[in-house]
Amino acid sequence: MTLHDLVIRSGTVYDGSGAPGVTADVAIRGDRIAAVGAVTGRGAREIDARGLAVSPGFIDVHTHDDFAVLLEPEMAFKVLQGVTTDVVGNCGSGVVPFAAGLQRFRRIHPDANPKPWDGFGGYLEHVDEARPSLNVAVLMGHGSLRRGAMDLAQRPPSRAELDEMCAWVREGVSAGAVGLSTGLIYEPGRYAATEEIIALARELGGAAGGLYATHMRNEGDALLEAVREAIRIGEEAGVPVQISHHKASGRRNWGRVRDSLKLIEDARSRGVDVTADQYPYTAGSTSLFAVVQNGAFRRDSPGGIGTLAASDVLIASAPKHAEWEGQTLEALAQAWGVAIEDTVERVLAAEGEACFVVTFGMDEADVKAVMAHPTTMIGSDGVPSGGKPHPRLYGCFARVLGHYVRDAKVFDLAMAIHRMTGMSAKKFQLVDRGTLRAGAFADVVVFDPATIADTATYAEPRRHPTGIRAVLVNGVVVGEDGRHTGARAGRALRRGRR
Ligand SMILES: [Zn+2]
Repeated sequence: MTLHDLVIRSGTVYDGSGAPGVTADVAIRGDRIAAVGAVTGRGAREIDARGLAVSPGFIDVHTHDDFAVLLEPEMAFKVLQGVTTDVVGNCGSGVVPFAAGLQRFRRIHPDANPKPWDGFGGYLEHVDEARPSLNVAVLMGHGSLRRGAMDLAQRPPSRAELDEMCAWVREGVSAGAVGLSTGLIYEPGRYAATEEIIALARELGGAAGGLYATHMRNEGDALLEAVREAIRIGEEAGVPVQISHHKASGRRNWGRVRDSLKLIEDARSRGVDVTADQYPYTAGSTSLFAVVQNGAFRRDSPGGIGTLAASDVLIASAPKHAEWEGQTLEALAQAWGVAIEDTVERVLAAEGEACFVVTFGMDEADVKAVMAHPTTMIGSDGVPSGGKPHPRLYGCFARVLGHYVRDAKVFDLAMAIHRMTGMSAKKFQLVDRGTLRAGAFADVVVFDPATIADTATYAEPRRHPTGIRAVLVNGVVVGEDGRHTGARAGRALRRGRR
């Protein structure tokens, strides 16, 4: 007689709360966890997890997979690193209104031509219809809202334009979007004053409503002013704040994360719910257009990215010139025998905003300081584009667990899992996710803490991690021993709902 659909037997179970692991079985029936403990009944299927860690599925709170979950619903690059939920819509890049969203995401998916949707409710229905392999929660990207309301106008919105944006935010809130995101170094988010964002954030529903997530106006010389702006928006609108990919960018700003972490601590002590996310690498990635627009190649760049050298910038995607991918701007300039400015101009003329780059601008000590801080959760910020995407797209979560937990000992395994699961689910209000207990959804990862490792590198980024035994989404095995099973068991998640 079988009692359960699946029993994960005798693993070290981490419940996602940060509590140490305990040896236990995990029984699954349907899409839910039936029991955690000593399970006597057999499962129709059993996974022997002796010597392995059993964790809630990882929640990637920072993604740009809005279209990828529809266009390549198996999402192998995510589920095979243990990710069972994606939060899309970060950095102001959103899917509503549809035309603005399509225009934006064609930079990542040049041939995308999905069936249009109406509002965030419509998008979430599309996700359910596409049935991707992982769950999807959506942030409302301010950049797309602003583009829809007022194109690229470099001025404050009129009353009518602001009303239009506010109406979309209200629609998103009622449809179950998890919050509002901004990208304040990007077109057109960079043209928004703090007051505009506060007005939109006021529509989120206050302390118990959606959160405000921000790719801040500056991660370089003016990092601290930018953190203050984010906190002010949270305070004045009365909403929780999520600082995206917390970092200090540009060599002369290295070490400043100690001050930005202090600002977060001070705000928290005043009662503002401020946290952050981070990807575990010293290189970032964004569009070459944005790098140039923010003046990153100027020696004294006042822009949001800090100062970069041409040797620090690697081409990640160039859809029309795959041969450029994986080369630095410096190498291209040498090969072409032209100046850096001309190289940049030539690449932008050929590829426009579809050219993404990897930028080496951070300090490893800063990465560790941010990761060690209790306000940081993990988010990949992966961009699913090009032949040489930043390796975080495939390796983020395994890199934290292998390189930073086991090898560098920045924090312990239970805490690292918490920052990928329970902490993330609570902040983004994903009910019954990010936890292993009876009644919760059966999003589960089984992995070997002794061997888990990212294998994706800057040179060879499209490689899946090793050491992950099984990945379950809503009770269904979608990944097994590094292979996708083909199963697509994900759902659209709506804020605060089961
Ligand atoms: Zn960003």
